[in-house]
Amino acid sequence: MVSAKDFLVTSVYDGDSHRLPKMKNGEYDRDVISKATESDIQKLDLALKYLQHNSAVTELLQKAVNNGVIIVMVKNGNNSYESNLPNNPDGAIYWNPNVGFNIFDDKMKFLGKMSSANTLLHEMVHAIDPNLAKSKNEIQEYLKTFSVFDTKFPYKNNAEYEAVTKANELVSNFHGEPTRADYITEPKEILVSNPIESLVNRYDSKGRFIGKTVKTYDDVTETIKTVHIDYLHRDKSGLPLKTETITDIDGKPIKKDPEKHTFDYQNFDWNSLSGSDLYRAVLSADSNQLDLMGKSLVQSEEGQRIFQLGENLLTEYKHQQELERQQELERSSHVMVMRR
Ligand SMILES: [Zn+2]
Repeated sequence: MVSAKDFLVTSVYDGDSHRLPKMKNGEYDRDVISKATESDIQKLDLALKYLQHNSAVTELLQKAVNNGVIIVMVKNGNNSYESNLPNNPDGAIYWNPNVGFNIFDDKMKFLGKMSSANTLLHEMVHAIDPNLAKSKNEIQEYLKTFSVFDTKFPYKNNAEYEAVTKANELVSNFHGEPTRADYITEPKEILVSNPIESLVNRYDSKGRFIGKTVKTYDDVTETIKTVHIDYLHRDKSGLPLKTETITDIDGKPIKKDPEKHTFDYQNFDWNSLSGSDLYRAVLSADSNQLDLMGKSLVQSEEGQRIFQLGENLLTEYKHQQELERQQELERSSHVMVMRR
């Protein structure tokens, strides 16, 4: 496994105006480059771990380490790769761990949110591209914009074709993140709370929004949660079908602690049910038990009140879900023009 300590990592505020210090011979002056902040190192390590759920990525990252690639963590400015000396593979990756990208298809339909780790992989592909470690003229030739008649035109040039297709293959397809259809449809930068957060929207063949998958990271429990919502299928309460998986930071499944949500249905005094009892009861119930609970509740006046409260909450929740769905539909029809 490759981790942050294998790279020279530094933190800067503005990636667009910042240039790394160089010595007279043109090489990076590694001795004067300041060490990255602890929080940036943590973000980089999280991204590297996530990317290496796919073991093929480790090999790629190892090449970047061997090339002596420097990682510049930026708070502001674009993600980019800077090749340094001609005929030399050591370059620098400018990476902002706090932004992901909203991805749209060619009809500007909103496909989802790509993680910022995905962008790191994109820049890593540039950093190990042997064609970017050649002479100035050869690099220029390699970076020539494709002709509009070329089928690869939407990828701008050879280097971007390589980076976009590799990131799609190694990250998006592997983790179920949205894929970029090209390079010239510019993605829209969005703030993310961690480098591995992502979202995928699903549509049917007629373009109707039918579901989504949301991936989040919890830095307290150090777990990754993936939630699938299926709008075509409903659960017993009439809500969109929801399934959830939780893994550790290395992608290994974690079983939910069964103790935490146990509730004894057989031996319980339903007349002295507290709010937290009800919560535990609902969380640990199967559908039969939920029916039993409903029947028990309506037998007392207080129970009926709680039952009604639950029904109201459910209605409110359904409303919220529908609103969210409408908002995403609207968002998908917005045409956005962005820079990058
Ligand atoms: Zn690129």
